[in-house]
Amino acid sequence: MFFDPLNDGKSCIELVSSMGSDLDVVNDARASFEKASIELTDKDSKLINYLIKHHHTSPFRGVVFKFKVKAPLYVGRQWFKHIIASNHNDEQLGWNEKSFRYVAATDEEDFYIPKVFREQSESNRQASGGELSEDLNEQAIAIYTQQCQDSYAAYQKLLSLGVSREQARGVLVPSVYTSWVWTVSLQSVLHFVGLRSGEGAQSEIGAYAEAISQLIKPMVPETIKAWEACDTQF
Ligand SMILES: Cc1cc2nc3c(=O)[nH]c(=O)nc-3n(C[C@H](O)[C@H](O)[C@H](O)COP(=O)(O)OP(=O)(O)OC[C@H]3O[C@@H](n4cnc5c(N)ncnc54)[C@H](O)[C@@H]3O)c2cc1C
Repeated sequence: MFFDPLNDGKSCIELVSSMGSDLDVVNDARASFEKASIELTDKDSKLINYLIKHHHTSPFRGVVFKFKVKAPLYVGRQWFKHIIASNHNDEQLGWNEKSFRYVAATDEEDFYIPKVFREQSESNRQASGGELSEDLNEQAIAIYTQQCQDSYAAYQKLLSLGVSREQARGVLVPSVYTSWVWTVSLQSVLHFVGLRSGEGAQSEIGAYAEAISQLIKPMVPETIKAWEACDTQF
């Protein structure tokens, strides 16, 4: 199952594999009593609620998801700041990304070009506000598209001169698509979704966070329900 979060036929997030479910959360929590459930009961759902409410987080680390992500480079840059239990700290090398040193960009279309441009927010220096008028939006799309095409053309020219891929990639604009595999615990993924779908987060990465919620829900429906109801940062 996969989503196209940016709705341009190029972006993608796919759940490649997963380990564990709501049942693993409660069974890990009950390890201290040497008890385990075979099927999830109402009592188990209440336990999940309790764990979330009281920030008993470790049972949520035994459930793991592996995603394949295709996103603009600048979205990847924001994403990469999430280090804990995302398996790209020193001990757990689990973030594996496409390298433009090995793989040349070969598609001049492989850039994210927003369909709708937002104004700079007046109250939040980091965020955007309402949408541009139709006329200004069209102009913005034209400028943005041209810049992506020019950057790709410059890149190809550098390669044709014999410049190495690792140096030539420097002229590709941050809208260029890249891809990576992200292996992450349930606790960490909830932390990510909480921050990146929260107020102030950029809507592009927010679209991926929303897709992640949908992708993991079938495995951990009770956890998602309890977490959404609790309104807590995890
Ligand atoms: C809206 C928004 C705007 C942002 N703007 C910027 C920006 O302008 N510039 C920028 O550089 N980053 C920015 N960030 C990234 C932000 O600072 C965090 O790096 C990112 O959100 C990851 O959050 P985290 O550290 O909580 O997650 P993780 O790295 O997954 O860490 C999870 C938790 O582990 C604990 N933890 C992690 N590392 C340590 C440590 N070394 N010591 C103690 N506890 C630790 C913390 O409790 C942390 O919350 C922004 C994030 C958001 C959501």
